[in-house]
Amino acid sequence: MSLKERIQHVEEMIMAACDRSGRNREDVTVIAVTKYVSAEMTSSVLNSGIIHLGENRPGVAVPKWEALGGQGVWHFIGHLQSRKVKDVVGKFQYIHSLDRFSLAQELDKRAATADTVVNAFLQVNISGEASKQGVAPEEAETLLREVDQLAHLKIIGLMTMAPEEEDPEDTRPVFRGLRMLRDELNAKGVTAEPLTELSMGMSGDFEVAIEEGATWVRLGTLLIGKGDEM
Ligand SMILES: *Cc1c(COP(=O)(O)O)cnc(C)c1O
Repeated sequence: MSLKERIQHVEEMIMAACDRSGRNREDVTVIAVTKYVSAEMTSSVLNSGIIHLGENRPGVAVPKWEALGGQGVWHFIGHLQSRKVKDVVGKFQYIHSLDRFSLAQELDKRAATADTVVNAFLQVNISGEASKQGVAPEEAETLLREVDQLAHLKIIGLMTMAPEEEDPEDTRPVFRGLRMLRDELNAKGVTAEPLTELSMGMSGDFEVAIEEGATWVRLGTLLIGKGDEM
């Protein structure tokens, strides 16, 4: 399939998931995860009309950002080391992997220097798998109360990754768990502004994630492919 055909195919799947769950298509935004492909292919993605790009390694993403002259809206979706923060602030408008206060402080400091505000998702390990990043659900409230005080970091929602399952249906409790946690935190008024966003769903499970309330889906393999073939 060509890139155009893949985008169309994914679009149909998203619309069907929205229909099944009574959601509006406009409430779900696709992030094209371009971590597997070159700057040239990433440029084709932008030319196809997708503006949100996801990358998970600063060493790969920053040269790509530079090659593309900063076109698009960049989302950092991987584990972020504090010493790499200076490389991504000013280029990435969204960080999906906030998982500790020291990282929040560093993001806030660098964003202040760059006179910008970084949008962030708190990454939560709903499944409890040892291999997954993110804070435990019961730690989310305390961390959110702390990071909400930082002027150059805007916490907009929660992010999670589900375990790989043969049957995507088995991921549903994880996505539902993230939505319920967000609703609980909002009901308690933990952050000054309610958390509106849920970053959840990848190639294998995004339809279930949309049914459970995802507002951002992060799609690599299915949408972009794993190599530069188009
Ligand atoms: C790679 C990656 C994705 C995309 O995964 P696919 O299964 O290729 O769609 C989404 N989110 C994160 C955090 C990733 O690292």
